[in-house]
Amino acid sequence: MTAQVIPTIQELRGALASIRSAGRTIGLVPTMGALHAGHGRLIETARRETGCVVVSIFVNPIQFDRSDDYERYPRPLSIDVEFCSARGVDFVFAPSAKEMYPDTERAFVEVAGVSEHLCGQFRPGHFRGVATVVLKLLNIVQPDRAYFGEKDAQQLAVIRRMVSDLNVPVAIVEVPTVRDADGLALSSRNQHLSPEERRIAPMLSLALKTARDLISGGETRPAAIKREALRILEEYSEVRVEYLEIVGAEDMQPTGEITGPVRVAGAIWIGKTRLIDNVLCAPGGAHPTQTARG
Ligand code: AMP
Repeated sequence: MTAQVIPTIQELRGALASIRSAGRTIGLVPTMGALHAGHGRLIETARRETGCVVVSIFVNPIQFDRSDDYERYPRPLSIDVEFCSARGVDFVFAPSAKEMYPDTERAFVEVAGVSEHLCGQFRPGHFRGVATVVLKLLNIVQPDRAYFGEKDAQQLAVIRRMVSDLNVPVAIVEVPTVRDADGLALSSRNQHLSPEERRIAPMLSLALKTARDLISGGETRPAAIKREALRILEEYSEVRVEYLEIVGAEDMQPTGEITGPVRVAGAIWIGKTRLIDNVLCAPGGAHPTQTARG
């Protein structure tokens, strides 16, 4: 069945009102489009868990800190709609920027603490833009459940904190990162990589995996772990490391000695393309998913 594409808030609210009155639960998967198997995993999870799946496709201008990145972000809408249809999505909400921001935006959501480090430090205003658009989408769709990827772990932490602090009535569902066979986390930005850059790109996940192995092997000193992980990336002159950091799994604050679950997160540039990735780690061999949030 073809997913119904809805460009306006009013039409979407109308369609969802009948779904809700029929007693069906609603799942929201917010995306910026250029859909790949990572998004596919979110959609499939939502399809299993809810009665009506809404995928939003909106390249959100207020979360971009660089206008060239916003301009060149891929927007293959008709291919995305086919992708959604093949996975049983009910509605694709694809608003214009004018529909979402008809006037100069005066209200923003700021989530302090969790948005401070990692990407927050290098992309000023990014998480404010993300939190604001996600709250708008949650208010527009009013889903029972909303699905986000572990690939953007800091974004997920920001959204969890926003939903908790602002009492938004929605369950946030975390979906594991989908990777290519060589370890590279799938991302809409991967298509900007040249073949040579694509060959090097999996080194980020290799560096993070190295850090995770050291931590599970009993190493507790962040500086020693980061040194080993960075050594891998430093072998490639094409790679510029923006950050490689070890943070608390929930609060996203850089840690001292590792005593509990942590996330090792990194951002690198290869040419004009910025890639991010992260892994959850538990010290001394404990399984991370058992010690972190369930
Ligand atoms: P984006 O379109 O990049 O804004 O991503 C939309 C959603 O898909 C976010 O919740 C991302 O975390 C999630 N996502 C992106 N890439 C992946 C991936 N490789 N695996 C799992 N989820 C992903």
